[in-house]
Amino acid sequence: RPALAVDGLGLQIGGARILQDVSFAVGAGEMIGVIGPNGAGKTTLFNLISGVMRPTEGSVSLNGREITSAPVHRRAKAGLGRTFQTSNLFPRLSVLENVRLAAQAKIGGSFSILRFPSASDEATRIARSTISEVGLTGQLTTAAGDLSHGEKRKVEIAVLLATDPAVVLLDEPMAGVASGDVPSLTAIIRGMHRDRGCTVMMVEHHMDVVLGLVDRVAVMHHGSLLALDSPDAVMADPIVQSAYLGEPV
Ligand code: ADP
Ligand code: MG
Ligand code: MG
Repeated sequence: RPALAVDGLGLQIGGARILQDVSFAVGAGEMIGVIGPNGAGKTTLFNLISGVMRPTEGSVSLNGREITSAPVHRRAKAGLGRTFQTSNLFPRLSVLENVRLAAQAKIGGSFSILRFPSASDEATRIARSTISEVGLTGQLTTAAGDLSHGEKRKVEIAVLLATDPAVVLLDEPMAGVASGDVPSLTAIIRGMHRDRGCTVMMVEHHMDVVLGLVDRVAVMHHGSLLALDSPDAVMADPIVQSAYLGEPV
């Protein structure tokens, strides 16, 4: 059974069709790239899968269990994690504090960010480990707001990994980062997939990154899924090429 499946997914807002009849299944351990012009519905698709928005049609299943109307925290508990297109870190909190909050939310129990950090604390242990996984051990006490764009993206991934997700949705993880940070971010995402065994869906406009990483590419256009196929097949598809004609990717 697929790690993630959507069936006939649709969203209408005030008479406008934002998403229509999107159906696909993602196998456990698969990595899917999601491409499409701005406004195609990529982020909306992630919002419906992660529970930030509810669809007006269709269903979402995680490991064969329907979660279409489950609250966000229940989906997270079931192993679904995501990052957002824009940063959602607490800028005044340190890297360690940001990641520890996510680890503590996963572990449960009461927690104060004001408490002095102790090395034996389980949430701190997890946070240090995922911060090390993204190569930012040297920045533990830096305020998140003082990091470079690329470093913020890495902390966002550390926050995500602290919840130990099985299925992750990455919304433009490289958007706006300096080109020098792209290789290390790519390596982090590859490790999430290969070493942790996460199932990954990633919206990304860096086509060289997408094509070098993913098993299949989903193409969104005007709220519909145009194609879901191997990178080679998708790039050779005339329908995909015409959808991109004259539009920024
Ligand atoms: P993408 O991520 O592919 O750039 P989005 O999913 O952000 O596209 O947006 C798809 C379309 O849906 C856009 O036309 C956007 O303006 C519209 N849209 C997204 N969310 C809402 C909303 N909450 N209310 C109205 N329109 C929305
Ligand atoms: Mg957009
Ligand atoms: Mg988007």
